[in-house]
Amino acid sequence: MNYDVIVIGGGPVGMMLAEELALADVKVCVLEKLEDTSPYSRALSIHPRTLEMLDLRGLKSELLKIGKPLPTGHFAGLETRLDFTVIDSSSNYSLFIAQSETEKVLEQRAKELGADIRRGMEVLSVTQSSDSVEVIASGASGQITLTAAYAVGADGAGSMVRKQANIAFNGTDATLTAVQGDVILKNPPQTSVVSSFNEKGMIMIVPVTKEMHRVVFIDPERNAIPKDEPVTLEELRSGMIRMLGDDYGISDPYWMTRFGNATRQAERYREGRLFLAGDAAHIHFPAGGQGMNVGLQEAMNLGWKLAAEVKGWAPEVLLDSYHAERFPVNTALLRNTRVQTLLFGTDFSPTTIHLRKMISDLLQSPDANYRLACQIAAVDVHYNEQENVSSHLLNGSRLAEIKLLSQNGDVFSSYELFRDGKYILLNLASDKVTEDIVSHLQHQHFKFVSATLAEQAKGWENVHTVLIRPDGYIAWAISATEADLINRMEQGIKQISRG
Ligand SMILES: Cc1cc2nc3c(=O)[nH]c(=O)nc-3n(C[C@H](O)[C@H](O)[C@H](O)COP(=O)(O)OP(=O)(O)OC[C@H]3O[C@@H](n4cnc5c(N)ncnc54)[C@H](O)[C@@H]3O)c2cc1C
Repeated sequence: MNYDVIVIGGGPVGMMLAEELALADVKVCVLEKLEDTSPYSRALSIHPRTLEMLDLRGLKSELLKIGKPLPTGHFAGLETRLDFTVIDSSSNYSLFIAQSETEKVLEQRAKELGADIRRGMEVLSVTQSSDSVEVIASGASGQITLTAAYAVGADGAGSMVRKQANIAFNGTDATLTAVQGDVILKNPPQTSVVSSFNEKGMIMIVPVTKEMHRVVFIDPERNAIPKDEPVTLEELRSGMIRMLGDDYGISDPYWMTRFGNATRQAERYREGRLFLAGDAAHIHFPAGGQGMNVGLQEAMNLGWKLAAEVKGWAPEVLLDSYHAERFPVNTALLRNTRVQTLLFGTDFSPTTIHLRKMISDLLQSPDANYRLACQIAAVDVHYNEQENVSSHLLNGSRLAEIKLLSQNGDVFSSYELFRDGKYILLNLASDKVTEDIVSHLQHQHFKFVSATLAEQAKGWENVHTVLIRPDGYIAWAISATEADLINRMEQGIKQISRG
């Protein structure tokens, strides 16, 4: 076989997955039809949970050099912004950064780790047998056939892999389209962000770079135009004048496009040796800036699981847990983007204006604001508890960064432990019990760390030992008061290995 895994599509999700697989020493190749990163950035924001996950791999610091942190996000463009600063996270902000820059950072890291990135290669077909997949691709030097143990379709909304795997894409077609233009505004608005909703439509203006602004609107008079009909500068200008009474000296369009609210999800994320991730698995109206974020989170969920399978130690159920864990998360995402579309794209009557005002007022309540902020930030994602482990508050939740004290007295971040993508078995009791158990176990696909909490952390009171997955979710935690502590720990550790 040529590779362990072939990733089809080298957008943000494909590149992130390649990085994760290469990190685990999996022989991985990305086949991407574009010769270069697309200069047209759809996504402009990376939200808190994605930032945390990138931080686990030491990638957040690279992105921070380029992007700009913003303390708030939005829901349906409501006047009251979502406050990310109150989230218990070392990434309690959104990073404003062009998708093209994010993609370049991910591609660079994947390459450094040894992923084979093959650009200018369009995949024509993917077929599978009981023990391999065959991929046929075409590029400047002709057609090639490659084989691998697994293939992942990270090939976007129109996914060829999804179609060839006969996976249904259930949902609804677009009922409206929005207009977007990255343009120069000679007389830009006074406020850095403009967000307006009135009977004439919904419009947002945000700076993309020092020179360029993004104008996005839904114009009730022009929201039935098909997605592929080109946008003109005049259309942008007249929409701005109608909705805001000013065109801010718009000129020099860099990129103009139309996008719709088709909302669909793949019926299953796996078919035998084929997997789907990112837009190949789900599409929705880009409300609240979530699509790329969930795709990157998926790549982190799938990467270590595929690697464990390739390396021969994954428990039987591990690969199927990818769909089981991510499908419900994205079902909730599709619900949230449908609600946002209803609130800012469907009806521009006085009733909707009142409804928006009411919800916006409710969002001034810290509890309400916090709940929605956590949803958009994706810090509310919680996976089911592993079977046969003692119940613990931390089980299935994300690891928020905590500070630890090493045995020689150094303070370090829990996130630093995840740079090489392994399970972390963290013993906080310093009682040597865990160390003894670990030394007797044969399958050690984890890093053992003995430390203490350098500062108090919510939910961590009295934790004896915790096992944290490579993607930063807590597999299980055992309390120091657990009656059957040693047995529980042994069982918990054995469960992450095959056999
Ligand atoms: C207007 C707009 C604004 C958005 N804003 C945000 C935001 O702020 N935040 C956010 O998180 N998300 C946002 N999104 C969504 C985000 O852009 C997507 O969710 C994200 O690009 C999905 O990444 P992906 O890698 O799954 O797919 P894509 O980015 O579509 O990448 C797929 C790749 O596969 C390649 N490919 C396709 N077919 C083949 C083939 N047969 N062979 C080889 N290569 C192939 C393509 O060339 C492409 O490079 C926005 C979307 C839109 C439309």
